[in-house]
Amino acid sequence: MHLTSGIRTYSAPKSGRLAKCMPLAVVNLEEVRKRAYASLLGVAIGDALGATVEFMTASEIKQTYGVLRDIRGGGWLRLAPGQVTDDTQMTLCVARSIRESGFAPRDIANRFADWLRSRPLDVGNTCRRGIRRYIHFDSLSGPPCDDDAGNGAVMRMAPVAIASLADASLLKTWAVEQAHITHNHPLSDAACIHVGSILHLALLGRSRESMRQYIQRAINQVPAFGYLNYRGLCTAFVADTMQTVLYHFFRARSFEDCVVNTVNQGGDADTAGAIVGAIAGAYYGLEEIPQRWIKKLDRHLVNELLNLSHALVSQSPLGRVAPTGCF
Ligand code: MN
Ligand code: MN
Repeated sequence: MHLTSGIRTYSAPKSGRLAKCMPLAVVNLEEVRKRAYASLLGVAIGDALGATVEFMTASEIKQTYGVLRDIRGGGWLRLAPGQVTDDTQMTLCVARSIRESGFAPRDIANRFADWLRSRPLDVGNTCRRGIRRYIHFDSLSGPPCDDDAGNGAVMRMAPVAIASLADASLLKTWAVEQAHITHNHPLSDAACIHVGSILHLALLGRSRESMRQYIQRAINQVPAFGYLNYRGLCTAFVADTMQTVLYHFFRARSFEDCVVNTVNQGGDADTAGAIVGAIAGAYYGLEEIPQRWIKKLDRHLVNELLNLSHALVSQSPLGRVAPTGCF
C-alpha cells in the first residue's frame, strides 16, 4: 500500500452514495485524522467553556463576565477549570463503544448505563429517562415522544460522523439508531443527520459554501432549523440549539469566535458550545484551536481524544478504502 505520504488515491465511483457525498479524487487521510481530533477537542472545549454560563441569560453573562473567553470552571455545577460535563462524557461513551465494538447500539447503551450508574455530575432529563428505560426494559428505542425534541442526541454526534466517513447513508442509519437510545423525535433525528452531514463535509476539508448549501437544502425540509432570522434563543429544544449553532458557525470567521459567540448566548451554552465546537474544530482544524483552551483540559482526556479520533478514522469506510479506490 502506498501510504507513506498519508495520501490515499481514490477514484470516486460515477454513481452511488459515496459519490454524492465525496466527489473528491484525493483524500489526505492524515489531514482527516487531524480534523477529526480537532472536532472531538471542539466538543470538550465548547462544553468546558460553556458550562460556566449554562442556564444564564446573555445579559447576565455580559454583566458578570463581559465576554466569556476563557475556560474558568464554576457555573451552576461548580466545575473546576477545564472540567467537562455530560456532553463530552456521552460523546466519549459513543466513541469508545465504536472503537471497541464497531457501531453497536447495545454496546453504546451499556456504556450510557454504566455512566449513569457512576452518578455523573449532570444528566439531561431525556437522556436519563432513555437510559433508565434501557436498564429496566432492555429497549434500545423508546416510542416517539413529543418530549424528546431536546438536543441530547445531537451533542454526541461527532464520533458517529467520524466513524461513518464518508458514507452518507451509513451516517443516517447510525445517527438515528444512536439517537433513539434516548431521544425519539423527528426534529432530533433530523438534527443528528444534518449535524453529522456537515461534519462529514468539514472533516473532508470541503468549503464553508458547500456546508452552507447543504444546510440550506436541509432547512427547506426542516424550516424549524432556519437561522437567518435568529432571535437569540438557545434552549435545550433542538430547533433553538440548531439555530444558535448554525447562526454562529456561519457568521464567525475563526474557531475561537464560533465557540465564544455561541456560549455567550447563554441558555444551554455547554451543549450548543459542544456542537459548534465539533463543527468548527472539523472545519478550521487543529492549528486554529487556541492552545490556552487545550491546556486547560485534562491531559488524559486530550490524549484519549487523540487516540479515539485516529482509531475512528481508521475504522471508517474512508479509512478502510483500498488505495486503488475500490470502495
Ligand atoms: Mn452539559
Ligand atoms: Mn447543557
